[in-house]
Amino acid sequence: MTHKPTQAILNMIHPDTYVRPTSKKGLGLFAKRKFRRGEILWIADDFDVKIPLLNYRQVAENQRRILDIYSYMDNFERVIVPWDEGKYVNHSCAPNSTGIIEFDNLTIAFREIQPFEEIVEDYHCYFAHFETFICRCGTPNCRGLVGCEDPYEPQLRLHLGEIVDDIFSYPQPLLSYKSVENIEFLRLLEQFKDIKQLKSSYHESQLNGHCATTHQRL
Ligand SMILES: [Zn+2]
Repeated sequence: MTHKPTQAILNMIHPDTYVRPTSKKGLGLFAKRKFRRGEILWIADDFDVKIPLLNYRQVAENQRRILDIYSYMDNFERVIVPWDEGKYVNHSCAPNSTGIIEFDNLTIAFREIQPFEEIVEDYHCYFAHFETFICRCGTPNCRGLVGCEDPYEPQLRLHLGEIVDDIFSYPQPLLSYKSVENIEFLRLLEQFKDIKQLKSSYHESQLNGHCATTHQRL
């Protein structure tokens, strides 16, 4: 995997995306080209606004209503407001991108996304979001009402182990920037890569009828 950017990275939204108005949901984020499963579309960076939940609760009601449209809460009880186009990712009950269980604050394609297709997430993959609205995604399994009290649904996210090979298969321009989140994510990626390599050499040795170099269950 190369982390070299295809063009200058100005923020942590993928450079092959763009924002435009949608018919029903205000602004939305769209793909300039086809994305494949495993391509990272957004990752938090050092410039995003991260408001501790206690401070968020003290924000005046009229200001909070605006904040709620563009923010979500992560697993550290921080209200995250992306400073880049990441804040325009809309909800859909048939999403094409999601988060990762082991690493919060990242959006990744979990299926192919076609050029000019809107990039959408199911907001229930966040630990919490703060908007209640009638969903107009128009998909057959639409939830109808998306509520700010709805529980987090971890099954909507991917486990890193099931996507790590895809992540390593493609250039990941967003990982070229050395933010606090990126450094942590790269460390985690390397751990998963090592575990997969150990697993594969263990199974190979079993298939070959040799004693495994390690009998640790991975
Ligand atoms: Zn819907």
